[in-house]
Amino acid sequence: MTDTIFNKIIRREIPADIVYEDEHVLAFRDINPQAPVHVLFIPKVAKATLNDLSMDDAEYVGRLMVAAASYAKQEGFAEKGYRTVINCNHDGGQTVFHIHLHLLAGRSLHWPPG
Ligand code: 5GP
Repeated sequence: MTDTIFNKIIRREIPADIVYEDEHVLAFRDINPQAPVHVLFIPKVAKATLNDLSMDDAEYVGRLMVAAASYAKQEGFAEKGYRTVINCNHDGGQTVFHIHLHLLAGRSLHWPPG
């Protein structure tokens, strides 16, 4: 896959407001937040979309969810609630082709989404 802006953030070639990091996952605030809390959780090893995953990648993608939930607890909004989203390809609204989990919180979120 081609290099994306998120790989540049991982390599610290462009700035980002990083809020969490471990061996496998990096999380940083979205540049165009859609809620008071809008953080992106990305795997350090890039795959373009959910369509590129197999069952062998269950842990790879599961780590994003667990990291997001841990962050929500740590920041104190887990009980109130939040939303996690992974957009896939054009109809899903994906614009950056490096898998990422959106964590949205801090306001009441509508359903169905737009
Ligand atoms: P997608 O639409 O692919 O699901 O989400 C991509 C997200 O990445 C968007 O919410 C967009 O605002 C965010 N984004 C794009 N470029 C940058 C950037 O350079 N820095 C940060 N922090 N977020 C970005």
